[in-house]
Amino acid sequence: MIKSVNPYNQKVEFETQELTIEETISAIDQAHNRFLSWRTTSFAERSKLMKAAGEELRKNKEEYARTITLEMGKPISQAIAEIEKCAWVCDYYADQAAHHLAPKMIETDAEESYVSYEPIGVVLAVMPWNYPFWQVFRFAAPALMAGNIGILKHASNVMRSADNIQKVFERAGFPEYCFTHLPLSSSKIEDVIKNPKVKAVTLTGSTPAGKAVAATAGSQIKKSVLELGGSNALVVFEDCNMEKTIEKAVTARYQNTGQSCIAGKRLLVHKNIVDSFTSKFVEAVKKLESGDPLQEDTYIGVMAREDLAEELEEQLNKTIDAGGKILLGGNRNKAYFEPTVLGNVTSEMPLFKEETFGPVIGITTFETEDEAVDLVNQSIFGLGVSLFTEDYDRAKRLVPRFDDGAVFVNDLVKSDPRLPFGGTKISGYGRELSADGIQEFVNKKTVYFN
Ligand code: NAP
Repeated sequence: MIKSVNPYNQKVEFETQELTIEETISAIDQAHNRFLSWRTTSFAERSKLMKAAGEELRKNKEEYARTITLEMGKPISQAIAEIEKCAWVCDYYADQAAHHLAPKMIETDAEESYVSYEPIGVVLAVMPWNYPFWQVFRFAAPALMAGNIGILKHASNVMRSADNIQKVFERAGFPEYCFTHLPLSSSKIEDVIKNPKVKAVTLTGSTPAGKAVAATAGSQIKKSVLELGGSNALVVFEDCNMEKTIEKAVTARYQNTGQSCIAGKRLLVHKNIVDSFTSKFVEAVKKLESGDPLQEDTYIGVMAREDLAEELEEQLNKTIDAGGKILLGGNRNKAYFEPTVLGNVTSEMPLFKEETFGPVIGITTFETEDEAVDLVNQSIFGLGVSLFTEDYDRAKRLVPRFDDGAVFVNDLVKSDPRLPFGGTKISGYGRELSADGIQEFVNKKTVYFN
């Protein structure tokens, strides 16, 4: 049995039987059969269904959001915002897919030559629990609009969300098996990737999971896209707008109870303003409302599982042992972790070097631009970096010096259907969202007439 346990009260919310090998193979066969007809549908037909999926999400957002909250402890208002964002990505691809995949004419010696963007078939998505709907929809909306079929292996603690996502597509009127959730444990994924009817795989999750999935895909010469962990830096220069920066930095770290790949996890502050910035930042974090995730005004819920909170506590304790100084919080009660701020954090400490997946941040100081760039790039991760400065020339000058997949100036790194999203280094490869995302899982076919 695969179980979802509410991390707020330890109640079992959902149980599902794992599929047998035969059931898994049969589901993949059905998905492949569906592909043979789905690939022939027009963009207009797909678009109508994708719009209906967006409407379904909006119509029943409370119902879907409640599932998220009960399964992984996300505060309900943030869960509702997640569902609304899923509706947005459905609308975006319903409107833009035909444009992003329009044949690209290229002048050559031929009478006519062009690139045609065609679907490849069944694509497996292996997804995490932190944004149980969003992570799936940002894969599924472009995949289905491109004419592919989606099969989903969701994280074991959010299988009811997975069930509900399949329901969204069914309620929207998509033909059966266009999108199927497979209740499977991660040990079964190798066989799914090796199934000849599965053409590619995308994984959002941790680096170890990414390595395992990419190795199997590589052994079969199948394409993979990996969206893995991150340790984004928030770089605060002397000339920042302090009030705005604090507001953005608090959201960057503490929304979703700190469990976001693109969260600002390292706070780098210029030495000359570190004292005033820190005291104001700590005051702002103190105001965050902790409580029952089902209450509208709760901002900090519980972490998704107690073991994850324990892991974070270990990273915190090791950082304190190495000289980090607690400025706020630091305590844990089961899956609840107090919003925590540490000062005196250096690049040698776990809070700087490792990904921290919860409501904890460490403050590190710098003096020069070069030092800031060096600190940012020291990370083994490369999802994104935020710069806070009123000097746009400085920001423009620095942008090319960062190794990351994104640089946001005066804002937190966030995903937007219109912009490509993805990382460098061990944060993964490939891009989701925008034109780049929908073009990952297509056959870019060269066509030449003479
Ligand atoms: P995780 O443990 O890697 O799990 C992610 C998914 O991979 C789950 O469905 C999991 O299934 C599966 N999985 C785990 N090990 C596997 C293996 N060896 N083979 C095949 N599948 C495997 O990650 P998580 O704890 O759920 O999520 C947190 C991590 O995801 C963080 O590192 C975070 O930064 C990253 N993340 C990245 C992004 C991004 O866009 N870059 C977005 C969100 C999260 P089970 O649950 O059954 O183990």
